[in-house]
Amino acid sequence: MVSRKVRVMELTEKNFFGMDLNHNVAIIDKGPGGGLMMVDTSLPENLDNIERYLKSWRYSIEDISDIVITHFHPDHIGNAMEIKKRSKARIYAHELEEINYNSFNLTYEQVREEFPVSEKEFLETMNRISKMKYSIVPDVRLRGGEMLGDFKVLHVPGHTKGHIALFDGETLIVGDAVRNYNGLKPPVKFFSWDYGKAVESFNYLINLPYKYLIPYHGNVIVR
Ligand SMILES: [Zn+2]
Ligand SMILES: [Zn+2]
Repeated sequence: MVSRKVRVMELTEKNFFGMDLNHNVAIIDKGPGGGLMMVDTSLPENLDNIERYLKSWRYSIEDISDIVITHFHPDHIGNAMEIKKRSKARIYAHELEEINYNSFNLTYEQVREEFPVSEKEFLETMNRISKMKYSIVPDVRLRGGEMLGDFKVLHVPGHTKGHIALFDGETLIVGDAVRNYNGLKPPVKFFSWDYGKAVESFNYLINLPYKYLIPYHGNVIVR
């Protein structure tokens, strides 16, 4: 339990450019639909782990009434439609967010600047992520400024056009707009739509008066 009303599932995506990448999926008690509000959904390989976490907290998939998607990258939307099918939850995402299957045309040199990855690991990861063609149909399109339960929707573009964060004055859930990888950093440049805007959004978010900061990748910060 991160705070009074937010729990975090720590999930893992293996073989991400030579390392294990963690996914922090937040579960908030409670969302506008009256049940649990889930923020981002990880990949299908983690659906069993999601169910295990919920069970350990005496919940099940069916208790989820709201699914908030920070942005449409595969590691965030991977289970959204399956969970919606089983729980009848409503899916929320920013109106500018769109799926772009061709957004990950990367070279080994670009990635090596950021991560200590061998060429073999690079090719394996590219092959793996190029097959991730998940789709998503949001029920509610956001613009920023809305309240979802106790949380305000913040439009923080840069990593993608319609990236959002959630803040209740205490807990700040940032998706990929801030990562905690050897310290707090803006999103990875080569995975970002507009890096200049991503840096602006990063600076805005880290200066908010949060007590808990939940990045999707990297450890939760408590201060
Ligand atoms: Zn992303
Ligand atoms: Zn991500």
